[in-house]
Amino acid sequence: MIIREQNIGEQDKLVSVLTKSHGVVKAFVRGAKNIKSGKGAATALLSYSLLTFHEGRDSYSISDARALRIFPKLRGDVRKMCLAQYFCELALTVCPREKSADKYLSLILNSLYLIDEGIRREELVKPCLEMRLAAMAGYLPDLIMCRECGVYTAPLMFFYPRTGTLKCGSCGAKTDGAVPLTEAALTALRHTVYADDGKLFSFSLSDEGLRLLNRASEAYLRCRFEKEFKTLNFYKAITEP
Ligand SMILES: [Zn+2]
Repeated sequence: MIIREQNIGEQDKLVSVLTKSHGVVKAFVRGAKNIKSGKGAATALLSYSLLTFHEGRDSYSISDARALRIFPKLRGDVRKMCLAQYFCELALTVCPREKSADKYLSLILNSLYLIDEGIRREELVKPCLEMRLAAMAGYLPDLIMCRECGVYTAPLMFFYPRTGTLKCGSCGAKTDGAVPLTEAALTALRHTVYADDGKLFSFSLSDEGLRLLNRASEAYLRCRFEKEFKTLNFYKAITEP
């Protein structure tokens, strides 16, 4: 899957590809703009393609490309496209290099598919992908119970994005960037981390719950990966009034 695309000169481009077997790989596409080469669509951002890599002395190039899925509906929708670009930035930040990334690729493709087809709400797919990617990359939060008193659930609990831990409403306070969670939002946050892969996106939550869930997942990624995601800021700028 193409997760980044940069033009080089008039004919060529450099792409970052999330591959099953080798994680994120950078490769040149020579003559990408040449219509006769047929490589344009298959090496465009977000395309899921069958690619043939050629290993040069110090770089890879793509000698043959055939698109398998290009998410046409998504491309025609500015808002969905912005979210998809954020997914690509997440992939670039989180996915491994030089080793198998099969699970990462499946997760991202599945997320795109759900948004492309409108099967799940964007506000639900996004935090699932964020939290699951962080967990897969080794940043598994501890959402079992309040770290002070051990209570499992309470009407109000705080999620601390810096440490990935919880405190209940009695033990915690709204400090250190804590995100307050209702019971439903906490259940959903736990689900994004602990649910089986096949059930990851299978739940529903109120608008308010989704708002809190997104706040928690965004804060967690910002702390764990120590960066502001530019594409996320852009997506939020066009979706939030
Ligand atoms: Zn407590």
